[in-house]
Amino acid sequence: MRVYVGRAVLDLFIPRLCVVCGRSLSLREDHICLDCLADLPRTYYSKLSRNRMADRLNGLIQRDLEEPEPYSYATALFYYRASTGYRDITKDLKYRGNIASGRFFSEMLASEMADSELFSDIDTVIPVPLHWTRRWSRGYNQAEVIGEVLARRFGASLRPDVLCRHRRTKTQTRLSIEGKVSNVVGAFRLRRCADLTGASHILLVDDVFTTGATLCSCQKTLRGAVGPKVRISVATLACVGD
Ligand SMILES: [Zn+2]
Repeated sequence: MRVYVGRAVLDLFIPRLCVVCGRSLSLREDHICLDCLADLPRTYYSKLSRNRMADRLNGLIQRDLEEPEPYSYATALFYYRASTGYRDITKDLKYRGNIASGRFFSEMLASEMADSELFSDIDTVIPVPLHWTRRWSRGYNQAEVIGEVLARRFGASLRPDVLCRHRRTKTQTRLSIEGKVSNVVGAFRLRRCADLTGASHILLVDDVFTTGATLCSCQKTLRGAVGPKVRISVATLACVGD
């Protein structure tokens, strides 16, 4: 009760707004109003070993490979639709520093994944890195915010020290799919001291899955460092499509 009284007083001075529709939140709502939460376009991919996101990712991973790769599991909390307010969930985290809201939605993703046997044995969580200049100007890496929540839920180790983005890639928005793939090929490297001994199920984490080009590039870099038996899965808050 005391929490609600404190919150009511605070809300008078700094109204808390729904990240999706901008309406003032009631005392019992956090970050998103109940109406927007009810309509959140969830993917429910966490329980599906094969889904459209995973198919898209695996299609890219398998391209030009002689030996088939084990199929990577992939999941996202919700569909990213540019025409709706739901896009602001990831935009608020990425551009407006709304880390608390990012953590809130990451917890929802974590709950869904923890319920799925596809992901229950994750032992290592690796966020997709930003180029250091972008990390420095933004002050944080949004993928690491999500990865931290997931790692805690799975009791896995969070390893932002494994990959680095050694080339600043162009903004992907205006590129074709082929352009996006070639834009990020070779953009990631393993850090020299990165040690993945003991990892058996790695989860790569990013904020939005668009074509899968970035995550595919990270997957290939990691595969070069771990044996074929190590599973590499992918999770994002949002997935473009549908
Ligand atoms: Zn709302």
